[in-house]
Amino acid sequence: MARYDLIVIGSGPAGEKGAAQVAYFGKKTALIERAAPRLGGACTNTGTLPSKTLRETALAITGMNSRGLEAAVLALPKPYTARTLMHREQLVVGAERGRIARNVERHGIKVLAGTASFVDAHTVRIEETGETLEADVFLIATGSRPHRPSWIPFEEVEIYDSDEILEIEIIPDSMIVLGSGVIASEYACIFAALGVKVTVMDGKDRLLGFLDGEIGQRFHAELMRLGLTLQLGDAPVKCAIDARTRVCSVTTAGGKVETAAAVLAAAGRTGNTAGMGLEALGIVPDKRGNLAVNEHFQTVLPHIYAAGDVVGFPGLASTSMEQGRVAMCHAFGLSYKTCVNPLFPYGIYTIPEMSYVGRTEEELKQQGVDYLAGRASMRDNARAEILGAESGFLKILFAPDRKILGVHALGPSATELIHIGLMALLADATIDLFIDAVFNFPTLSELYKYAAYDGLGALIRREKGAAA
Ligand SMILES: Cc1cc2nc3c(=O)[nH]c(=O)nc-3n(C[C@H](O)[C@H](O)[C@H](O)COP(=O)(O)OP(=O)(O)OC[C@H]3O[C@@H](n4cnc5c(N)ncnc54)[C@H](O)[C@@H]3O)c2cc1C
Repeated sequence: MARYDLIVIGSGPAGEKGAAQVAYFGKKTALIERAAPRLGGACTNTGTLPSKTLRETALAITGMNSRGLEAAVLALPKPYTARTLMHREQLVVGAERGRIARNVERHGIKVLAGTASFVDAHTVRIEETGETLEADVFLIATGSRPHRPSWIPFEEVEIYDSDEILEIEIIPDSMIVLGSGVIASEYACIFAALGVKVTVMDGKDRLLGFLDGEIGQRFHAELMRLGLTLQLGDAPVKCAIDARTRVCSVTTAGGKVETAAAVLAAAGRTGNTAGMGLEALGIVPDKRGNLAVNEHFQTVLPHIYAAGDVVGFPGLASTSMEQGRVAMCHAFGLSYKTCVNPLFPYGIYTIPEMSYVGRTEEELKQQGVDYLAGRASMRDNARAEILGAESGFLKILFAPDRKILGVHALGPSATELIHIGLMALLADATIDLFIDAVFNFPTLSELYKYAAYDGLGALIRREKGAAA
């Protein structure tokens, strides 16, 4: 029986990075992937990259990423076919799979195709081949899949989950999106941008309720501009399809009925742990299939680690990679990466894009923290003008001693811009950092300087007010 220092199950961000971390230091490492040769997990194949590529395609073919310019000239004529939409997605996904395969090969990681389950605490079996393998350490990085509530008839072709939506053959005239989280919001924006009449339905009162309130309000206004309809605060409870007309209908607890040509349900995720023989080892997943781990990502068996979506929150590719690395540094005594930095940014690829790091105004108020805000608008930014960006802004929240507490951005490149704020927060900086720095011109990054000046003005006004 083959014996390894490490066996990793799953080749998504957590598995790939965890395996590479250890193999780099010469450990004998195997990676088992049931979808092989399609490496990369949900991140590459069904989640992060396909949805972000689809978004860029939608922005490009509709001319929306330059709405203030000659959008009508730039836009492709309608109707768009699913093939047009998915072409670039397939190129990007293929390229990323290639990158992962090369990374794995470069590190000398043995890739085994098949579905792994535990035979005992040090042995796994590959279902398809019957092969068994032993290891000293295991990393469970099996990720998650779309949660499928039983009241939604997913067997109908017009009803999609967030994996199936990538297989869509005809862009429908209308779509109901069920959910109020990131995946629901991102796909709702993409389809609305493509001219689909989108209605978002959820029991929660707000889309992306965790956002800073001001950002949330601006986002809401942008959604109205996109032409989305929101049916929130009234939980959908029934979804049906008319066998003759093929019209989908969703009924809420309050008795409202919405109809559309298609339904996309984005109702959360479930950890991929079923059938892995974990319970017999005393590793019991919770009711959403997630595994409990300690700060080192160890399960109740110290040599069996778990990282990525399978451990639940925050369920991001960005954090999954770090969790995989941190877990494996602990397992093999590599002492340079001891924890996942708790200060990480959120990137939300809606239209417009949004991102933040640190605390929201609501959190600061709740925690009784005194703070001020400085804002800069993309309307007053030369690069944004060149880009044809019509809206967008950056907000810095800071303490009276000028220390930065949070940064929030909405608009083009928000998910890139946020990293400047992230670095400042990690360095415990004050807004003076931005006031003193020279920025390239013209750039969106300059928003930091003007938000800092705006904040300084607010601070001076407050101090004058207090002195008067
Ligand atoms: C639509 C969508 C958009 C997203 N957008 C973003 C984003 O913009 N930014 C971001 O940071 N995150 C985003 N995410 C989240 C991100 O994709 C996940 O957090 C990330 O993929 C989790 O990585 P992972 O390694 O834990 O698992 P996964 O990427 O899910 O990989 C798990 C792998 O394990 C394999 N596997 C499972 N069970 C077994 C078994 N028993 N044996 C062998 N192999 C097995 C699976 O086939 C899969 O390849 C998005 C997700 C979705 C669905």
